[in-house]
Amino acid sequence: MQDYQLYIDGAFVEGAARFDSLDPSTGAPWATMPEARTAEVNAAVEAAHRAFLSPEWAGMTASARGKLLHRLADLLAENAPRLAEIETRDTGKIIRETRAQIAYVAEYYRYYAGLADKIEGAHLPIDKPDMEVWLRREPVGVVAAVVPWNSQLFLSAVKIGPALAAGCTVVLKASEEGPAPMLEFARIFDLAGFPKGVLNILTGFGAECGSVLTQHPKVAHVAFTGGPQTARHIVRNTAENLASVSLELGGKSPFIVFEDADLDSAVNAQVAGIFAATGQSCVAGSRLLVQNSIRAEFLDRLRRKAEAIVLGAPGDMTTEIGPLCSARQRQHAEALIARSVAQGAQLVTGGKAPARDGFYFEPTILDCTEAPGADCLTTEFFGPVLSVQGFDTEAEAIRLANDTEFGLASGVFTRDLTRAHRMIRAIRAGIVWVNTYRAVSPMAPFGGHGLSGHGREGGLQAALDYTTVKTVWLRVSDDPIPDPFVMR
Ligand code: NAD
Repeated sequence: MQDYQLYIDGAFVEGAARFDSLDPSTGAPWATMPEARTAEVNAAVEAAHRAFLSPEWAGMTASARGKLLHRLADLLAENAPRLAEIETRDTGKIIRETRAQIAYVAEYYRYYAGLADKIEGAHLPIDKPDMEVWLRREPVGVVAAVVPWNSQLFLSAVKIGPALAAGCTVVLKASEEGPAPMLEFARIFDLAGFPKGVLNILTGFGAECGSVLTQHPKVAHVAFTGGPQTARHIVRNTAENLASVSLELGGKSPFIVFEDADLDSAVNAQVAGIFAATGQSCVAGSRLLVQNSIRAEFLDRLRRKAEAIVLGAPGDMTTEIGPLCSARQRQHAEALIARSVAQGAQLVTGGKAPARDGFYFEPTILDCTEAPGADCLTTEFFGPVLSVQGFDTEAEAIRLANDTEFGLASGVFTRDLTRAHRMIRAIRAGIVWVNTYRAVSPMAPFGGHGLSGHGREGGLQAALDYTTVKTVWLRVSDDPIPDPFVMR
């Protein structure tokens, strides 16, 4: 068993208690995690607050902050194989994905390293001749970052990178499920040379840790990724400290295939869009909308691909789909499939856990064309489960695509350029991928609206969101300011 520690004020410390982390491929404990409760949360926020005001951090030039972030990116890239192994072990995410993703996470830190000294203020052409007025962009303060268990290194990079580039300090709460990669990351961060307290990493549970953190009076901004239900708690938590909040939540993203599409590409993109990461991806293309003229053929191709997917140990390079992260996720998928089938959805393939240890689940396809009220069309599975609906016309495709409370991602497959443009305009989602799916980049903003949240991660705006504007007025006249109470 491997034992991890919290990272507070530049030191590795014990929590209030310990809990086991399970290997999802066997269901057996493999590591113990420290649990942060009120005392540890308070210590972490106080450390971040001290660091925020310290001459070592507050007085550091933006270019020097950028250099530290570059050093962190180098260390991450060097340690990517080890981090990938740990993430695979703790979350069940397959090694092929964790290796590729962590190498790319380093690029996010590099992007924000480069941005650190390009966050500029402004000078205003003010309407008063004896005044100079300009805007300073200053860091907002202590950031509480709360992340879910899938892709924690990635989801934390899109918060830590821009927050540190802007000059903030951070307390990050890792998920209680699969937290080891974040505590492993703490060891790497510690080597990069940041002043102590600039980043603190906690593990613990929602009520005892996350809730205390997001209510803390010294927290200025909460950056949250997770489900909509938890997001409601977060917003309530910030009713007292009035911290600003950004929310990256779930999705039920439409993947739309027209009859004129390149079907080979569309099938491959749909397979990756829903079965990569065992479907535990906020942008999973979980609702296939396919034109009825090609529905039977497309579904048949998809079914054959789904049934050929190699399900196996996540650490094995030949594995194409690993286990779900927890037994809870598997139960959730089982219950939702049973309910949807009872509501009329047709099971095309999969639908159950295979007979083996661990939290595995078969790639599943449900045709809901005749069951428009099925729960699987509206509820996020966070598993390898695809719901399908046929459509006849472009207008129907748009209606079905927008028939959701979420608004995170979407995909359109067509060779018709004007139709592609009409779809881009009509779809209500934060991301539209055309003839591709699931592409991301540090330069491209990422986020949604509705139940998918608000705010954007990635890109320049994300760094600006960790700043506040200070308006400076400077009078340039030497004439005395007249006494306002002397009548003239
Ligand atoms: P979750 O909402 O249950 O938990 C997320 C985090 O919130 C965890 O660290 C948890 O401990 C913490 N938390 C729980 N209760 C809290 C409280 N009262 N106060 C403060 N913190 C609390 O989410 P999950 O099940 O771990 O992850 C899956 C969800 O995350 C899915 O809905 C998925 O779509 C979403 N997600 C979104 C994105 C995105 O970028 N939009 C990315 C990945 C995952």
